Amino acid sequence: PPDVEILGRSTWAFLHTTAAYYPDRPSPTQRANMLNLLYALPVLYPCSHCASHLGEEMKVHPPDVSGRTALSRWLCERHNEVNERLGKERFDCAKTDERWKDGPSD
Ligand code: FAD
Repeated sequence: PPDVEILGRSTWAFLHTTAAYYPDRPSPTQRANMLNLLYALPVLYPCSHCASHLGEEMKVHPPDVSGRTALSRWLCERHNEVNERLGKERFDCAKTDERWKDGPSD
C-alpha cells in the first residue's frame, strides 16, 4: 500500500499550489473542472480511510470554487481538520499564500 505520509504531503502540495494559482474569477469551465478534481478525491484517493473522512467532510462543507481566495481558505480548513484529527498543529490560514504562492515576505 502507498505510504500515507508521503502521499499526503505530495497531495497537499499539489492541492494547495493549484488553489493558490486558481483564478480570482474562474470561468465556468475552470469551476467545473475544479469541482470534478475535488469530488474525485473521496472516490479515488488511494488511502481509503482518508478518502472516506474527506467525503464526509465535503458533505458538511461543500467546496467553494468561486475564486482563489475562497478555494484556498476552504482547502486550508479541510487540511486543518485532518491536522486536528492526527494531533498536528493547526495552520494559520492567513499564511496560505505565503506558504504556497508568494514565499516569505522578508
Ligand atoms: P502535511 O499535513 O502533509 O502538510 C504539508 C505542509 O503543508 C506542512 O508542512 C505545512 O507547511 C502545510 N500545511 C499544513 N497545514 C496546512 C493547512 N491547513 N493549509 C495549508 N497548508 C498547510 N493521514 C492519516 O493518517 N489519516 C487520514 O485520515 C488522512 N487524511 C488525509 C486526507 C487528505 C485529503 C490528504 C491529502 C492527506 C491525508 N492524510 C491523512 C495525510 C496527512 O494529512 C499528512 O499529509 C501526513 O500525515 C504528513 O504530514 P506532515 O506533517 O508531513 O504535513
